Amino acid sequence: MKNILIDCENVGFHYGHSTVLEDINLQVKAGEFWALIGPNGSGKSTLIKIILGLLAPDEGVVKLFGKSIGTFKQRERIGFVSQKSNSFNSGFPATVLEVVKSGLTRKVGLFKSFSKQDERHALDALKIVKMDEFSNSNIGELSGGQQQRVFIARALVGEPDLLIMDEPTVGIDQKNVASFYSMLNDLNREHGIAILLVTHEIDLVTELASHVACLNRSIHFHGIQSDYKNMDDDDISSWYGHPVRRVHAPKEEV
Ligand code: ADP
Repeated sequence: MKNILIDCENVGFHYGHSTVLEDINLQVKAGEFWALIGPNGSGKSTLIKIILGLLAPDEGVVKLFGKSIGTFKQRERIGFVSQKSNSFNSGFPATVLEVVKSGLTRKVGLFKSFSKQDERHALDALKIVKMDEFSNSNIGELSGGQQQRVFIARALVGEPDLLIMDEPTVGIDQKNVASFYSMLNDLNREHGIAILLVTHEIDLVTELASHVACLNRSIHFHGIQSDYKNMDDDDISSWYGHPVRRVHAPKEEV
């Protein structure tokens, strides 16, 4: 049986009197690629903050790698990339390699120097995201999509079992989004890293993900990709809150 990496049991959360998450049950297992989809304001970021231990749930329990979140200490097993990661401007004085190595500080300690082996790990992580030829470039000179790949390399350098990404394609040119997703696909299939990707997109990423969870305060569907694809667009529209039409939805029979 596959290891359970994230286990949310009956999770609920409120901001003041407003209920943001209700009775969330979700399990992410080793090697799976989950797309967590939902409209703006549906609670996606709040759920991620709870999973990362930044917010405590008001109801229910979250376990990471089989341990209750309060006792889970191996944070390097989870890499996190947010939508705001790619915000360096051209004046920021750090090379791509330095940014990636900064992902190791949790392992080597803030004031310890990096070894040759750390440098090799950083270069290996850059190779995985196909950015090794930019290792000596200034981070601020790269495009939003290239920066985001570097931030994924920084998350990978600690060799996590699980990568969590919150809207990682925000700030990436539309024409580069497909190749960004295909890189994530390689990461998942070839390197065996489980992925939990948060997005308001209902189409492209669900072509790649092995599993899909639909969130709008509560989980309206969770399951394998083919079951999501076979869902009727009207069913998706009813929980999404407004009419949606997917490009990759099953064709209507004539
Ligand atoms: P999503 O990531 O799906 O856009 P969020 O988790 O950011 O949704 O937000 C869910 C709901 O919680 C929204 O209605 C949002 O306005 C509200 N919310 C988010 N953060 C706060 C906060 N710090 N204080 C009060 N309400 C918040």
